[in-house]
This record gives sequence, structure tokens and C-alpha cells, in this order.
Amino acid sequence: MQRIKRPEGGAARLDPLNWGMPLMKTALPRRLLSYVLFAALASRLFSSDTLETERLRITLGEGGALNVLDKAAGVHWTQPALPVQISNVRTSATDLTFNLNEIMTVRVIPAGERIDVEISGPEDTKIEGLEYPAGFTRSEAIAGQNLVLPHCAGFSIPFAMNKRADLVRVPGYYTTDIGQGGLTMPWISTTDGTAGCLMLIGTPYDSRMKVWTDSAGYQYAVSWHDTKGRLGYARQVSYRFTAKGGAVALCKVYREEAKASGLLVTLREKSKSIPGIERFLGALSFWLVDWPDADLIEKIKAAGVDRALVSYHVTGPVPPGVVNRYGHNTTYEAMDQQFIAQLHALGYLAGRYDYYRTIYPPSDDGRGSNGWIMRFVGYPEQLAHDENGRIRPGFQGGNQRRDVANSTAIRGNRCSKCQYELAQIYIPLDVDRTGYDARLLDAVCAVNWQECYNPAHPVTREEDMQWRRKQLRVAMDNGQVTGTEHIASWAVPHAVYAEAPTTFVRFAGYRESFNGQSFTPPESFSTVVLDERIRFPLWQLVFHDAVVITNRWTFTANRYTDEKIWHKEDLINLLHGQMPTFMLDAANFVANAGHFVRTAQTVGEWNAKIGYEELTDFRWLNPDGSMQEAVYASGESVVVNFGRDVQTLPDGLRVPAGGFAFRSVPR
Ligand SMILES: [Zn+2]
Repeated sequence: MQRIKRPEGGAARLDPLNWGMPLMKTALPRRLLSYVLFAALASRLFSSDTLETERLRITLGEGGALNVLDKAAGVHWTQPALPVQISNVRTSATDLTFNLNEIMTVRVIPAGERIDVEISGPEDTKIEGLEYPAGFTRSEAIAGQNLVLPHCAGFSIPFAMNKRADLVRVPGYYTTDIGQGGLTMPWISTTDGTAGCLMLIGTPYDSRMKVWTDSAGYQYAVSWHDTKGRLGYARQVSYRFTAKGGAVALCKVYREEAKASGLLVTLREKSKSIPGIERFLGALSFWLVDWPDADLIEKIKAAGVDRALVSYHVTGPVPPGVVNRYGHNTTYEAMDQQFIAQLHALGYLAGRYDYYRTIYPPSDDGRGSNGWIMRFVGYPEQLAHDENGRIRPGFQGGNQRRDVANSTAIRGNRCSKCQYELAQIYIPLDVDRTGYDARLLDAVCAVNWQECYNPAHPVTREEDMQWRRKQLRVAMDNGQVTGTEHIASWAVPHAVYAEAPTTFVRFAGYRESFNGQSFTPPESFSTVVLDERIRFPLWQLVFHDAVVITNRWTFTANRYTDEKIWHKEDLINLLHGQMPTFMLDAANFVANAGHFVRTAQTVGEWNAKIGYEELTDFRWLNPDGSMQEAVYASGESVVVNFGRDVQTLPDGLRVPAGGFAFRSVPR
């Protein structure tokens, strides 16, 4: 059998010299003794633990770890041993099978450059908390490996940075296939810059991904949830080995997967039924906090902002006597048909915020806070229940009142099935009434999966995903440029844009302040979120031509106290093909008009040009990453120079310090 290389420093590290066997300390060299003892032990435990195909040689090690030689790349990959029991190992011509924790069965099935792993067992088995299997890293402790992490818009983090203080929040759990705190795509990868291995969860909705550090870098594994208290169905994980191309190749492997499963619906296809997309690509997204004022809009246009999505989150003074048709004031329903016609005359799009998740109890004293109708209907019948029949606590209030014995007094979460039903009733009428072009459906891709045990509308996590998808689809079917808070792969067919993936709340903090006033972002925003050496446009390499991503609405560059951070964000937006979003009032626009226009005429115009295109390549042009390039399907590219000196490329392209340049590269 093949020698199994142990991960350094892992809890399950097998070192016979640390087994409490002092008599074994002979004159044999320590390393040789370790090897002899380990090989003897391993051969006793596993009689037929190796499976070989034309491309891969797979060996099962202790702790269920798979060790793989990718013969095409000439690279050994290994997994950390995990605290699981392996028994009854057997191989056939096509698979390697063993028992996991006695009751479950694991099948390892290689095919070409992939290995599929299936975990099955009696349906009533408990799998909650099981952490298996792990991801692969290169077995040699090479310094050049990166953790390719599709958290928010994407990171590629060198293993050598695993002790960096501002990256302390990289380790932890990531809910699979959900934005905000999780993974926007159901995979994590490792690459050495050339070869790579992608770990894709085929059954993502009842899972999280755990990332941790070890002495050599990062490790990761799948952590499973029960579905309604049990295993329920076979769980699937798939590994894809790539011989070259680094993180870009890994993204393209997943893009093909997304295409094959119908997730890759492009903006071009969506634009056939959503005419607003044509004006949306290249737009700045404005959240205005003043009452709608045509003078301000005309001022923005006259200054030189050609394309804009205009939405209102009114926190400023409301004209006396103004109420909406439900008798409350009008945070989100401030625009009427006449005002939207004025926006259209300027070539701007009219958008609005919408939200179906939290319901307030009738007794709630916050009822008048923003007059949002969806917060006051359906209580308690539309509420999601937990496994004990209790109301699942909702945003704003559930947290404060979790200890209230009378659970009907808490603000709870509306079940996603009921959210969909309500959206079906509300959205078509609202679009007809006003002529909106766009709609941001809050929370849909940002909050964790939610099982519902309410007997009137039981929902599993996978069904939760299906109902959320249908909610988005209502807006799409009504011709809306449909946005969500955050993003995830399953939402791609039913969304045009996603707000927040480029803010990385896990590192920048959760911030709610709806006005045009300045604030100082936390230091980690600049050192992590805007660090070009670890940011990598994973989402865009897969889905740039399908869903536009942007900042969180309250965390916008026009409000940073230091304008240099805005400038850095412009460069990242240009390089990564991201839409700029701004929250502002009239005073903020006047104070920053020059920079708004500059952003529109650089980032905006570039996004208008490449908005429908696939991002085909992304690369560093020098070793320290201060020069980077993004290349689109047409061959059009943008080169950004993050450094302090002007740079000239071999083809003569001159890129100013802290600046950018465009070129066409041969396809
Ligand atoms: Zn329900």
C-alpha cells in the first residue's frame, strides 16, 4: 500500500513515539520507526484500501482520510484524519466502500478527474454534527497553497496567511449555498496556483462547511445537519482535480457544473423578458433617503451620471399629510407613477425594497415604525415553527424577547412558503400601480436555511430553498430587475443583481444607519475586504454574465470618511466587474458630486460595456499582485495597478500608479 502522509499537528496524528510505549524507543531512527510501525498498523487495519484508475490512485487512510495521486498533475493530495470510525473496507473494480461509524456506508466512486462520495444509511439514522469528509490539500507542506473560499464575492487566501490577525474570522462554519455568513456556491477548493482540487457538496441544503487552521495552512470539511431529525436521504460530495489553471480553472469547473444543472441563466437570456436589464448594466445603484425630489434627480443626471437605479429608503422628513394606502407612512412606497415617469424620461430605472420574512404580533408597539404592510399580516398562522412547535424568532425583536414565555408576543419568521404566497398577491398589483422596473427582495439569499414544523405548512431546508426561489421568480415574472440581499447559486436563474456580497459582513461588521452621513469603516474592511492580494472574483468567474453583485446598502463608499477608501473600492469594482451602490441624501450628493461622476464614467461605463460577458480569466501580472488583470470573453480587459509607481507592460500599455488601463488581449 501507499505510504500515507499525515497532516502536521492534527489531533489524530499517528505518531508511535507518542503512544506511551517507552520500550519502543530503540536505536532505530525516529522517522524510520514511525514509518515501520505505521505501515504495519495500517496494513492490519485495511486489507484492500487502494483503488486505481487511469487518472487517479486513491488510498483510504486512518480517520477516513482519502489520499490521492493525480497522475495527470503529478500531485499528491491528502485529507486530514477526522474523528470517525472506519470499518469493513472493501474495493471493487469501480468503487471503494466502507462503513462509517458502523451504521452508515460510504462509497467512493472515481470517474476521470472526479471522485464522488456518497454517504448513505437507514433513513432514521442521526447525522447531525457529523463532520465528514474533508477537503484535500497537497500532502507536501508547500508554501504556495491557497484556500479558495466562495464566501461572499470570493477569497483566495494563501496558507501562509493563516495566522494573520485580521483573518481570524476565516476559520469557522459557513452555511452552504447561502450568502452573508455562508458560501455563495456549494464548494471550497485548494490550489497551489497550478493544480487544484474542488470539493463540491451535491446535497448542500442540510450542510455547513467547517474551515480551520493547522500548522501548514487551512483545512476544511463538510458538517451535516439532519433533515427533520434524521439522515433522510443519501448525502453527496464530489471532488474535481485540475492539473493546471489555479483558482480560475476551479471556478470554470463549477461553471460547467452550473450550466449542466440549469443554474447558469445569463443576463442576456433574462433581458428578453426584463427590458430594464439593458439600462441596468453599468448603472450606479442609489438608495435615496430624502422624500422623492425631481430636482435632485435632474441634478445627478446633469452632473454626468448617465445610468442609475433609483430606489428610496425614506428616513428624512415626509411632507405633511402623506400616507400610503394602508394608512401608514411610506419608507419604501414613496414613489408614485408620475415620479417614476420622470425617472424614465431621464433614462433611469425605478426600484424598490420589498420584504416578506418578519411578522410583528398585533400587540407590537413597533407597528407604526415604518408602516410596512407585510409585517402586520399573517400572525400567527403564517409563522414558521421549530421542532418543538415554538415560533421561530424573527429579525428585530425575536432576539430581544427570546425568553418570553408567551411566545405569541415575539416577532417571528414567516415561513418561506407563506412568503411566496404573499409575494404572489402583492407584487403584481404594486408593479401595475407604479411602473417599477426593479425590486430588491430582502433576506432571501442572506438568512440561514429554516425548517418549518408548522403543521399547516411543513418545510424542509431544501423546500425552503424552493419556496425562496419561487418568491424571486414572482418578481422576475413581473418583468422586474430582481435583486436579493446576498446571493447563492440556486438563486441565479431568478435574480439579476445581489446586494451585499461585496461588503463581506463577516469582516466589515453589520451596520444599519439609513442616512447620508459619513462613517469610518472598521480597519478590517480595508485590510481584508479591499485587500487585492486575497480578494479573488470567484462569483464573477462563475456567474458574472448571470448576476450582478454590489455592496450592502448602508455600507457605501460615498459615506467613508476617508475618500481614499472610495478610490480603492473603485479600483476593486473595476477589476472585479462589480456595481457601485450608494446611500445618500441631497447634501451628500452635492458634497461628492465629482467623485460620483468619476465612478459613473469609469466603473459604470466599463460595466455597461462588459455586463453581458463571461469573465474568462483573472490574473496577477507581477509576483506581489500589485498589477492584476480581468479578461472577458470578447478579449476586452482591464488592468489595475494598486502600486505606487507607474507600470508599463511588455506590450507598451502604461498603467498609472493607483490607476487602471484597458486593452484587448488575443483570444
Ligand atoms: Zn411553514
